[in-house]
Amino acid sequence: MKILVVNCGSSSIKYQLIDMTNESVLAKGLVERIGIEGSVLTHQPGDRNKVVLTADIKNHSIGIQMVLEALTHKDHGVIKTMKEISAIGHRVVHGAEKFADSVLITPAVMEALEECIEMAPLHNPPNILGINACAELMPGVPQVGVFDTAFHQTMPKHAFLYGIPFEAYEKYGLRRYGFHGTSHRYVSQRAAEMLGQHLTSLRIITCHLGNGASLAAVKHGKSIDTSMGFTPLEGLVMGTRCGEIDPAIIPFLMKKENMTPDQIDNYLNKKSGVLGLSGISSDFRDIENAAKEGNERAELALEVFAYKVRKYIGGYVAAMGGVDAIVFTAGLGENSISMRDLICNGLEYLGTRIDPVKNNVRGKAQEISADGSKVKIFVIPTNEELVIARDTKEICANLI
Ligand code: AMP
Repeated sequence: MKILVVNCGSSSIKYQLIDMTNESVLAKGLVERIGIEGSVLTHQPGDRNKVVLTADIKNHSIGIQMVLEALTHKDHGVIKTMKEISAIGHRVVHGAEKFADSVLITPAVMEALEECIEMAPLHNPPNILGINACAELMPGVPQVGVFDTAFHQTMPKHAFLYGIPFEAYEKYGLRRYGFHGTSHRYVSQRAAEMLGQHLTSLRIITCHLGNGASLAAVKHGKSIDTSMGFTPLEGLVMGTRCGEIDPAIIPFLMKKENMTPDQIDNYLNKKSGVLGLSGISSDFRDIENAAKEGNERAELALEVFAYKVRKYIGGYVAAMGGVDAIVFTAGLGENSISMRDLICNGLEYLGTRIDPVKNNVRGKAQEISADGSKVKIFVIPTNEELVIARDTKEICANLI
């Protein structure tokens, strides 16, 4: 069974074609600048050379069409015909309280997705466009939606409610939803495998540290708390997002700087985080390099980031009544030796000790805690596409 995994952003489409007989990636790629001048498709067929195809890609439908052409192309294709694609799995960002699991896409599901747009106005519309484009181009091929929010639907009320009038939750669904759920789910499962223990007996803190960053407290296989909230703006300081701040800052700044709601939204989402703190970049590599050269604001941005992660770890230890493992994943978590070191230095009170030699690893699943460390520490590269493909396979098994 071959499954196409699709992740549509506002102007991009990421895709992977996965052969589920051995879970190998047959091809993967990225369509960028959809609807913008200079659109381009970068297609990587297996371990062969990348192909870069430029075209006027006006919308997601044309983008998906180009992906299908690339996958079936006589030179750089990996399948003979589109008919070899048994099912399609889509990443969908927001499923609100409607979806606690991945689902087969039906007209009723599409209606529910439309209703979720209000909660994720930037993310859900392109996800819907991608599903519609695939339905149009591959009629009859089953499609599955895999939600970023679904894994966190197990959070108890006391963890997901905000201290605002209860009516706001009832009327507008204002509560913590959490994101990166597919990643937190995958790495917590992998950590249990690496420990040789059942997930149901473990308390794991998963640290998804990329451009967007969130932590989750995974107790006995279930997410019981996570740092992102109603939107992906809450929680940690991120590349360009502010994370938690005193909400009173918002009306204060709006008055002082004469900002509209859209302007303050842009300020907190795009101009803040380590970019705003360092004044250098949102990319941690640039900030780490500047810090090495003695730039004080770069050093400060890294300290603020690490301190916040450490505080959340402490909070989640309290929430779970202890911790057995801490997992680092995503761009920064998988690759930054110095950031992992900075975060873990100060966690010794938990019985956690990082091993500097084992920590010298990038992008590879490995335990990095010292022998005898009570709490195990892992680096585990995330693989959201594989989770999407596995869920799609399971849901579509009887349909194909
Ligand atoms: P992601 O959003 O998961 O793709 O992660 C992207 C972020 O990972 C980038 O902003 C980088 O700051 C960070 N990153 C990737 N590679 C490294 C590295 N070798 N060292 C430090 N940070 C890295």
